[in-house]
Amino acid sequence: MAETDPRSRRVVVPGVRWLRFPRRLEAEYREYQCLEAVDSFRVNAFYILVLYLLLVTGIYALAPEDVRGLWLGTYIWVGIIVMLAGILAQFRALDRYFPVYAGAGSFLAVMLSMAIPGFLEEPGSIQLANVSVIYALVIVYAMVGLRFPVAALVCWAGGLLGWGIAEQFGRGIDWQVAHRTYTGISLLGMFLCYTEEVRGRLLFFNQRQLVRQQQRTQSLAERLHRLSREDSLTGLANRRYFDEALDREWRRCQRERQPLTVMLVDVDLFKSYNDHYGHLQGDECLRALADELRRYSRRGGDLVARFGGEEFVLLYPGVDETEAARLASRLCRTVRALGLTHAHNPPSGEVTISVGVAVTMPMENRSAIKLLDAADQALYQAKQSGRDSWRLYEPPPTVRLVRENGVRKDD
Ligand code: GH3
Ligand code: MG
Ligand code: MG
Repeated sequence: MAETDPRSRRVVVPGVRWLRFPRRLEAEYREYQCLEAVDSFRVNAFYILVLYLLLVTGIYALAPEDVRGLWLGTYIWVGIIVMLAGILAQFRALDRYFPVYAGAGSFLAVMLSMAIPGFLEEPGSIQLANVSVIYALVIVYAMVGLRFPVAALVCWAGGLLGWGIAEQFGRGIDWQVAHRTYTGISLLGMFLCYTEEVRGRLLFFNQRQLVRQQQRTQSLAERLHRLSREDSLTGLANRRYFDEALDREWRRCQRERQPLTVMLVDVDLFKSYNDHYGHLQGDECLRALADELRRYSRRGGDLVARFGGEEFVLLYPGVDETEAARLASRLCRTVRALGLTHAHNPPSGEVTISVGVAVTMPMENRSAIKLLDAADQALYQAKQSGRDSWRLYEPPPTVRLVRENGVRKDD
């Protein structure tokens, strides 16, 4: 949206100088501006009241006694308007009506301030009344938080009506003075208000760009993170993620004195499958198997990952030999039940798997690598015994003997 001006290397934001962004952005800005303005006004209303009191005490001290009552009786309405607007601003449900009530209040305050001098006679009090016009304009343009066109509209329209009232019902306005107060301060106020809005729009635009950039970076980082842990063919966890999980679960089971089970799953005679049906069909088959295996992750720490090629690995913390045997047997049956044709896998003629299971109690003197190695040995045994089956790793008899006597340490 923003283009770079090659001469100045400044970022040119469309519509900022004319106080109008392209349509959708403009709507977004107005909503943002309204909330920002009402947020500031919640506090600013208090400062405006302080300024008002400063003016009122001046009127009370300096105005001649005979007009003091009339003066205060009329001017008190400006205070009431500010107070009302301040109270309304405290209700968040009314936030989106801020331009309406703040605009109406500003209009009335300017109108009153402009009309009052037309009803006074004594030059001293007329001058004082003109000071109140200056106060009103500065406050509306610089402190209320109205957008420039709204502020300009309410100040000029309020001034015009105040002038009309003074002409119609009072003694009229001395434009020698009014041009130096009302007109001059209106121009100054418009300039300040315009500059402030340009700055506000630039700030809004930059913040928005920054937030969008952050969101984009974050979603890219998340995607990258996911890709680094995911196998692209099957969508399962990849080998790298499995290695991290194995390490983590190993330490957790060691702490909690729980068994840890690893199952290596290998598709039987998959090379022949590829040779016969083609590599793409082979990929399809791996995907179908992965979808089935995915359902074997049941609890928090369980993990099903692609180990590489046509091999998968399942990790089960807290699962002992009995439960592991049950799971492995069910796994073989489930894959068989899928009924994926594999003409070169006798005798069933369907895709089958072999599973090697290893279970251990993680301890200081054992290692996760050895657990994987044990599952691999069990898988080899399952293949040797004719495939489409599972085997639980059994340590060689000598090792078992010494382990039972509690002597051997590194198995
Ligand atoms: P065994 O029963 O002894 O495991 O026999 P096998 O043919 O499955 O074993 P082998 O290791 O000889 O072959 C594995 C095959 O898996 C070889 C390779 O073409 C295939 N393979 C590995 N990764 C992929 C893959 O991502 N997609 C496909 N379609 N095939 C794959
Ligand atoms: Mg293999
Ligand atoms: Mg194989």
